[in-house]
This record gives sequence, C-alpha cells and structure tokens, in this order.
Amino acid sequence: MPPNFELAAAKNVPASFCHIHQTPSADQSLPRAFNDGCRDHKLTPNVENQTLLGPDEPPPFQIVQEHGHSAYFLTCDHGGKLLPRALGTLGLGPTDLDRHIAWDIGAAALARKLSDALDAWLIVQTYSRLAIDCNRPLHSPTSIAPISEATPIPGNQQISAADADTRRRTIFQPYHDRIVAELDARKILGRPTMLVAVHSFTPEFRGERRPWHVGVLYHRDARLARILLDLFRDESALVVGDNQPYAVSDESDYAIPIYGERRSIPHVEIEIRQDLLADESGQTEWAQRLTLALVQAEQLLKRPQ
Ligand SMILES: [Zn+2]
Repeated sequence: MPPNFELAAAKNVPASFCHIHQTPSADQSLPRAFNDGCRDHKLTPNVENQTLLGPDEPPPFQIVQEHGHSAYFLTCDHGGKLLPRALGTLGLGPTDLDRHIAWDIGAAALARKLSDALDAWLIVQTYSRLAIDCNRPLHSPTSIAPISEATPIPGNQQISAADADTRRRTIFQPYHDRIVAELDARKILGRPTMLVAVHSFTPEFRGERRPWHVGVLYHRDARLARILLDLFRDESALVVGDNQPYAVSDESDYAIPIYGERRSIPHVEIEIRQDLLADESGQTEWAQRLTLALVQAEQLLKRPQ
C-alpha cells in the first residue's frame, strides 16, 4: 500500500487515488496544493502566480558558464528528469521515469562538459519532458504527452486546460523567458551567437536498431549543420545521421524554428546515441569530439563563402 493510502486508511477517510498527485484526495491533512486537482485531475481556477513548485524544489533551469565568452549558445531542453513533487510520479514506476521517455540520458552531462570546454553559456532544463516538453510548441499534442513511445502516461491523460497552463507557467515559460532574455542581451551587445541544442536518442526505436552515433539536425538553415556533417564524416568510424534519427519541423521542435530560424542565427541540433553517453568516459569523449568540431566549424563559418 502506498504511504499516502496508509495515511488515509489510518484516518479512516476514503482514498480516491489521483495519478497526478499520487495522494488520496480526501486526506485534508495534506498541503492544499496536493489536494487541489485530485478530483478528476481538475485544478483550482487559474491563478496567475500559481506554481507547481514548493519553495524547497529546484528552479526549472540551471545556467552553466553564465559569463562564457564563446559565440556558442547551448541549450539542453531534455537534460532533467525531475518531476515537481505536486505531480507525483504521473502514475509511472521508477524504471519508466529513468527511460528516454522522461529525459535525454547523458545529454546534460555532455552539455556541461561542452560548456566548460568551449566557455559557452548553457541552459539545462531541470524537469522531465513528461511534465511538459520544452522542445515542443505548446499547441503540439505531445507538449504534455498522454503516451510516450508506447507507454501511456496516466498523469497526462484527461489533463485540464488549467493544469496544463500551470505546467507551462512553472516549467516551460521561465526556461524560455531566460533563453529569450539572454539572446536579446547578446543581440543588443552585438555578440556573435550560434545555437547548439544538445540531445540524445535511444539505440532502438519500435524494434528498429538505430545505427547512427551522432545525428546532425536542421531544417531551413543548414549553414552550421553542413559544416558539422562534413567534419564528423571525416572520422571514418563514425556513423553520422543527416537529419537522422529525427527531422526538425515547426510542429515537433521549438528551439531550432523559434530561436535559430526566426532570429537567423546559425544553429544545429546535435543528437548523440544515449548508450555512447552512458558513463563519464563516453561523455568526455563526445565532449572533446564536439568541442573540436565546433571550434573548427566556427572558423569555417567566418570564411568568406
Ligand atoms: Zn531531446
């Protein structure tokens, strides 16, 4: 019996389980924020400053190398796997909460090493994409995914508009507001900026093996991507994906279309297969490889075409 059911049973109150909050809603001793929304996942009316995070919970992003001098501007949208306490486990077990459906395994560790090596500003999202995906437009059906790969996410089904908006305000908005503020400040200062979105992918998807070690993703503007593709292909042992295992689109992505394309800054999304980032030696190896390639790419981009 989960601890909160035991609590409810001890108090002799009915326990209607809510997969969002993982608490018996009838237990009035629980903090109000835990009880709100337990009835059919409905939240209390939308209050502008309502947040899912308690005062002791970490903020929705971390900045690394805040004063970095590099032109590279790094993002790691799927770096974190935490869930706000108020969301419980979304009805998932610990194994699912540690899978790629929850976060990009190894991506944050790689991005931090890359940030240090390049002296580049980096933002890392703290919370799991299962709470809200920071690389999806808000209107996307997978912004708050009811099913991820083949796994139903109970706490994301039948979610109310108010609940979705609270997740947006708690996680998505502050993360993107910080990115916008930084990009705007760099523009005012005339600082060169090149966006690199760091991600990782699973070695297998729906029974298909994915052979690529690294994927270079882009859509309308391939300036940086083309150079990196050539540089990675120079290393003959590498299997390099050109818009593999994913292709960037306005519907399935946020950083590249909104920050790269609309602002006309050179950009790329880099995907590393997650088994290559499973331990620190792999993360270090890839950070060194990417650092070398990005430093060379910056020089090549500066050359007159
Ligand atoms: Zn990702």
